[in-house]
Amino acid sequence: MAITVVGSVALDTVETPFGKIEKGLGGSGSHFSASASFYSPINLVGVVGSDFDQAHLDFFKSRKINLDGLEIVEGGKSFHWVGKYDFDLNTAHTLETHLNVFETFSPKLPESYRNSDVLFLANIHPALQNHVIDEAGKPGLIALDTMNLWIDTTKEELLKVIKRVDLVTINEAEARSLTGNPNLVQASRAIQELGPKTVVIKRGEYGALMFHEDKIFNAPALPLESIFDPTGAGDSFAGGMLGYIAKRNDYTFDTLKTAVICGSVMASFNVEKFSCDRLKELTKEEISARFAEFQSLGSFEGIQF
Ligand code: AMP
Repeated sequence: MAITVVGSVALDTVETPFGKIEKGLGGSGSHFSASASFYSPINLVGVVGSDFDQAHLDFFKSRKINLDGLEIVEGGKSFHWVGKYDFDLNTAHTLETHLNVFETFSPKLPESYRNSDVLFLANIHPALQNHVIDEAGKPGLIALDTMNLWIDTTKEELLKVIKRVDLVTINEAEARSLTGNPNLVQASRAIQELGPKTVVIKRGEYGALMFHEDKIFNAPALPLESIFDPTGAGDSFAGGMLGYIAKRNDYTFDTLKTAVICGSVMASFNVEKFSCDRLKELTKEEISARFAEFQSLGSFEGIQF
């Protein structure tokens, strides 16, 4: 079952306490697609300039990611994000954002991308997210991610698009800031009242909380020995989660719970190396083994009260 995703396809310059990478493959659309492609076929919508390395395109193709909807602007420059993390790896500090070709981007969805089983609006300007819903026909499920920048600068447009989606993924600080409510349960309920049935709160190294209708699921994060670069953790989480939902083509609470663990598994790999480098070398066997680690981490079997 296919997923259509619109998001940033970027060159990222990132500095963490463990090193630095200059203009590596980044962007919400890239991390999402690299992760979700382990589960389901992906149709990517985005834009890059002619400075975008052919090797990145080859990587997408090697993961069978459909690039018919990826526009390459001749003579244009790709979106470039410059960020930094201190020892608190849960907080990204944006140093520079160069929208470049994104400034004038108007996504056109190829016919084959319309009416897909899942539509994911990865972190990107909410006006573009709204526009893509208009173009997408009737997807089975629409999910959305966002960031503090849009909450601070284009909140009205963001609220408009949230009302049109089934599922929202958002990190805990963003959920508080979007709703003005410091309590995560109340903040999630407030987002659900806008329209989405499901809200998934990403809590970085503390895991994820899912609110589906009136039910709650608390997923752990794996205590990792080596976190190298948290960039794209949220997008690879969404990739694992929605990839699994699309593969099962089912939206029950049980499937959603497994999907949240698949998201956590993919994010745990993504942070082990810079850029999408860990996802490039990842195998299905490693994914299964890590899923089992998550299972034993969260299991209360045999424990008596
Ligand atoms: P995250 O999963 O939240 O760590 O997302 C990190 C990715 O978001 C990076 O690869 C950036 O290229 C991308 N990004 C940063 N700022 C923006 C923005 N304003 N719009 C779209 N994507 C962005």
